Amino acid sequence: MRVNYLDMGVNSITRSGFIAIAGQPNVGKSTLLNGVLKEKVAIISRKPETTRDNIKGILTEGGCQMVFTDTPGIHRPHDLLGKMMLIRAQSTLLESDIILLMTEKKTAFDREDLNIISRLPEPGRGKSVFLIINKTDRVKQKELLLPVIKKAGTVYPFDEIIPMCALNPGHLKKLIGIIKKYLPEGPFYYPEGQLTDKSERFMIEEIIREKVLLTVHEEVPHSVAVSVEQMVEEEEKTLKIYATVFVERTSQKAILIGKKGASMKRIGELARADIEKMLSRHVYLDLWVKVFERWKRDPRAMREMGYAD
Ligand code: GDP
Ligand code: MG
Repeated sequence: MRVNYLDMGVNSITRSGFIAIAGQPNVGKSTLLNGVLKEKVAIISRKPETTRDNIKGILTEGGCQMVFTDTPGIHRPHDLLGKMMLIRAQSTLLESDIILLMTEKKTAFDREDLNIISRLPEPGRGKSVFLIINKTDRVKQKELLLPVIKKAGTVYPFDEIIPMCALNPGHLKKLIGIIKKYLPEGPFYYPEGQLTDKSERFMIEEIIREKVLLTVHEEVPHSVAVSVEQMVEEEEKTLKIYATVFVERTSQKAILIGKKGASMKRIGELARADIEKMLSRHVYLDLWVKVFERWKRDPRAMREMGYAD
């Protein structure tokens, strides 16, 4: 969109676009999104498949608005939740202007990389696709990346191939510079200063879920869903948050609570600290654990938990 300030003699063009971040679990998609936004928008955990929902992260600077989406894994779904995630991930690819395909493979693409590449839009459809080879801080010599860079050109005509480290602010800045060059002219979709399309409530649920994933290992994590039931202003100073952590089995509930409630206490402390940081205010967090059998296979439950439309 071109805005002509005739009295100022300046032509001001705004550019905007949707940028999808795709790739296998654990390659650094959420790290890249958080780094680009310099805030914690997507939750990070060492466990794969952490991101269930598409969170849009918005960066507006220098006449450009970039709307990033961290897509959940594109892989063969095992249950209804997995199917929903795949559908969302694919529609994100279709809706985007630029796709960042991330990998951390140094020498070759594996089957799963090729599976994702096969789901990329056909070349020449007006979308730009970049290959990001992440975690180069773990590569001793640049030359070691040559095989995968050579191979890349034969599997897809990537517009850019970018070896980088998503933990390096300088690299992130350069990446943003390259993205800006590919952004189409267009209006801003969100107000300047807005960081994400998600509600405060959603962010709180994701923080709590992240702390569950960090604290309990065993087989609990993938059965967990979090729902904020109520947020109440207590006097001027404190926000009281009542949230439920759902698990699928009684045995999981016991693990989650821990000996004398130790695990739950730890989860609550960690979550509260992050929520307070996000909201810049004092928070009281009340967490309950409930068993909800087979919620991942129940469409109504999934809707209520916000995982299906
Ligand atoms: P996602 O599943 O693709 O979203 O991956 P995450 O962003 O959650 O990252 C997975 C793990 O890789 C985390 O422990 C990150 O700290 C780590 N990580 C991400 N990017 C880099 C990088 O450039 N270098 C190194 N060494 N680790 C990274
Ligand atoms: Mg992630």
